[in-house]
Amino acid sequence: MPELALYAVSDGISRGRTVVEPRPKARSEFQRDRDRIVHSTAFRRLEYKTQVFVNHEGDLFRTRLTHSIEVAQIARSIARALHLNDDLTEAIALAHDLGHTPFGHAGQDALNECMQAYGGFEHNLQSLRIVDRLEERYGAFDGLNLMFETREGILKHCSPAKARELGELGRRFLDGRRPSLEAQICNLADEIAYNNHDVDDGLRSGLLTLGQLDEVSLFARHAAEADAEFPHLSGRRRVHETIRRMIDAQVTDLLAESERRIAAAAPCSLEDVHAAAPLIAFTDAMQAENRVLKVFLREHLYQHYQVLRMTAKARRVINDLFTAFVANPRLLPPQYRKMADTENITRATADYIAGMTDRYSIKEHRRLFSVGEL
Ligand code: MG
Repeated sequence: MPELALYAVSDGISRGRTVVEPRPKARSEFQRDRDRIVHSTAFRRLEYKTQVFVNHEGDLFRTRLTHSIEVAQIARSIARALHLNDDLTEAIALAHDLGHTPFGHAGQDALNECMQAYGGFEHNLQSLRIVDRLEERYGAFDGLNLMFETREGILKHCSPAKARELGELGRRFLDGRRPSLEAQICNLADEIAYNNHDVDDGLRSGLLTLGQLDEVSLFARHAAEADAEFPHLSGRRRVHETIRRMIDAQVTDLLAESERRIAAAAPCSLEDVHAAAPLIAFTDAMQAENRVLKVFLREHLYQHYQVLRMTAKARRVINDLFTAFVANPRLLPPQYRKMADTENITRATADYIAGMTDRYSIKEHRRLFSVGEL
């Protein structure tokens, strides 16, 4: 590994694990975190969870799993270029969406509504709950017992009330402090990944057209560059040549602006990073172009009537499941019913539903509501 910057997170300055464990033999502590995440059940479930398109709509669309891998790729490249801890960065990126419900944001909104009177539901907090408590793999502890900085990076945002409940981990939200640069990178790598792959998936699905994308400067500019270099290119290859240029432009912009900010703030330690303004950022110009792209995607893709139909169906499935289980906890599988005894029925139900893949939730809905289904 290239030498780390003074202000990077390292094994030596980490605040460590909740349950003390012997040091790993041939890996760093953060490599071990990444490896634990890759081996977790929640990670495998990402394969069958919606990013924008529901799993059964097509084999080539992004899922939560491929999205997380793309985020990890982008984040790791940025971390390495800035001499930051790329193992930690990769661990955070691979874990950042573990808490997502089936059916993407529609699922999260529906479950949050169901949980309104019982403390709400937030996928980001759920990711933390999975790595801290819900994974059942080790004899000595619940969850994955990850390093403090990995957990801190997973907890991207948090209300003041929740932050108080979380103690040390929530403290930075109350004190207005920044997470590590590794965590800041993951936030923006997430944005780069989904903005670009949603354009790709949108075009592939036919819900977006190239004509519409002419109004998005980031796309139009890079399509023109691709055309100048390869005048005879068309179809998917032209789209890919455009999108890879967009990703490259965003990453290059982010690296230049972050290097500028780091040089200006001159942090000497991780502590300086916590106290400084955000140091990982796009230039204002790129930020503005990204905003245009986001507004475009919201209007033309996320609000497309075909996407909204699926969204409406997803809400119904989640609502029905939640209502049925809370009304009659005996319908829950035994391990969740047991959890309902120690915790409470609404949280146990939310954990069960949030853990479902798209197709499992549809199946479970059928099993509960369709006569003649086992
Ligand atoms: Mg994400």
